[in-house]
Amino acid sequence: MTFVVTDNCIKCKYTDCVEVCPVDCFYEGPNFLVIHPDECIDCALCEPECPANAIFSEDEVPEDQQEFTALNAELADIWPNIAEKKDALPDAEEWDGVPDKLQYLER
Ligand code: SF4
Ligand code: SF4
Repeated sequence: MTFVVTDNCIKCKYTDCVEVCPVDCFYEGPNFLVIHPDECIDCALCEPECPANAIFSEDEVPEDQQEFTALNAELADIWPNIAEKKDALPDAEEWDGVPDKLQYLER
């Protein structure tokens, strides 16, 4: 079992989640974070820390966001690790809650 970062993280990237992860399994792209499914120990600490409510347990990913499970696995293999909190993207608040942000994902 792993946790999965979903749509509402895109263009927000608050990074509160990375501070609490005991195994540092977050990976960072230009405007999105992902969790490495083979490294996540299923501790659930990150889920309540996300101001954008973008993190779900693998078995609770909303129906319309199922593709994010595979996307986390794919991008975690490519992107660099992030273990410390940094500033959110400048227009994060503006984008928080905007639906269907996958089209804006930068790789
Ligand atoms: S706290 Fe939420 S919005 Fe911020 S980087 Fe982590 S998953 Fe993305
Ligand atoms: S569930 Fe735990 S191990 Fe997995 S990403 Fe969140 S904080 Fe890290």
